[in-house]
Amino acid sequence: MNHFQYKGNELYAEDVAIREIVATVGSPVYVYSHATLERHFKAFDDSFSTMPHTICYSVKANSTQSVLKTFINLGGGVDIVSGGELFRALKAGVDPKKVVYSGVGKKDDEIEYALNTGILMFNVESEQELTRISEIATRIGRKAGIAIRVNPDVDPGTHPYITTGLKNAKFGITIDRAIAEYKRAKDLPGIEIVGIDCHIGSQLTKVNPFVDSIVKLRKVIATLREAGINPKYFDLGGGLGIQYNDEEPPLPADYGKEIVAATKDLGMHLIFEPGRNIVGNAGILAAKCLYTKARDEKNFIMIDAGMNDLARPALYGSFHGVLPVVKDQDGVIVADIVGPICESGDFLAKDREVPMFKQGDLMAFTSAGAYGFAMSSSYNSRPRVAEVMVKGDTFEVIRERETIEDLIKGEKIASFLVA
Ligand SMILES: *Cc1c(COP(=O)(O)O)cnc(C)c1O
Repeated sequence: MNHFQYKGNELYAEDVAIREIVATVGSPVYVYSHATLERHFKAFDDSFSTMPHTICYSVKANSTQSVLKTFINLGGGVDIVSGGELFRALKAGVDPKKVVYSGVGKKDDEIEYALNTGILMFNVESEQELTRISEIATRIGRKAGIAIRVNPDVDPGTHPYITTGLKNAKFGITIDRAIAEYKRAKDLPGIEIVGIDCHIGSQLTKVNPFVDSIVKLRKVIATLREAGINPKYFDLGGGLGIQYNDEEPPLPADYGKEIVAATKDLGMHLIFEPGRNIVGNAGILAAKCLYTKARDEKNFIMIDAGMNDLARPALYGSFHGVLPVVKDQDGVIVADIVGPICESGDFLAKDREVPMFKQGDLMAFTSAGAYGFAMSSSYNSRPRVAEVMVKGDTFEVIRERETIEDLIKGEKIASFLVA
């Protein structure tokens, strides 16, 4: 699976033993497979080879420079949700004409930064935002390319925290308001209408919700065309799921077939904003067993990684597979795998049958490439962990482990506290 495989007793990323990486870089550590990142990007890209399209990788899933650079080298653009993400993507060498900017809370300085950069388009999420973008563009003598993010009111059938396309969600402009906003946009001085956008949620395991929203947006597009408004780009967002446990998401090729069938006659340029689908199964988090303890009711395995390093289990109750880095345990045990954080929500696996890990054993949490490091924090004053990228039989540290000095970077003791 995805270039993380056993050779004999040992788990490898491509041709490098995870044990060797930990011996060099320490634990915990995120490890990404370059070949897997490329394979996933190309599989997605190839699914749309019959139509003009741009893959704008969703930076928030994994925003590390080397990951961005991998996709930029393959011709990818980016979907950003902040000025910080724009900065990262530009540093990694993205073509500004392949940048789309989503998010409900764009600040003035972020809008101005994106305008000066010359991004392809803003995915506008509210009436007031549209007005503000026009004002700022006019003030600095630029035109803002925009798409309206239409909220199609489609249930993606995923976790409520990552559902974004239902009417009661904070995202986008409702379908009944979209036409009026496009007509208003047409006459705003700082605005150029270039697209139409929707993104209905994350970790979708069926194609139907995507097609349902296309059907709804096609009606909007038809009405716009009658009004002389012809958006060129049709941004279908991200959200295609991956297998963490027993999910059976469609292959990108099958997703592609249905999307192409539903959009081809429109003659538009498609944009996709995949995140998880490309990076999720291209990374693992390696961690070490510190202690074990057995209670009457429960067994615990305490490890050196916690919810600050991989938040998804604590945040959404998500499942990550657990694999021994070296298979030398005697038998199995049902246990909670927990971190050092002083919170009961600090678990990476619950009531899971796992090998009988001993003190010092290493384990890998699978499918940790998306919303893993990117969501990590230094909560409990734990320096954020290192990240490594493997290519063939070599690996490089692509982000240094933070030091304890980094923890107080930018802090100062208020002058009135020192005599
Ligand atoms: C998070 C997000 C994405 C990426 O979602 P995935 O499920 O990781 O593919 C794409 N577009 C927007 C607007 C997002 O907020």
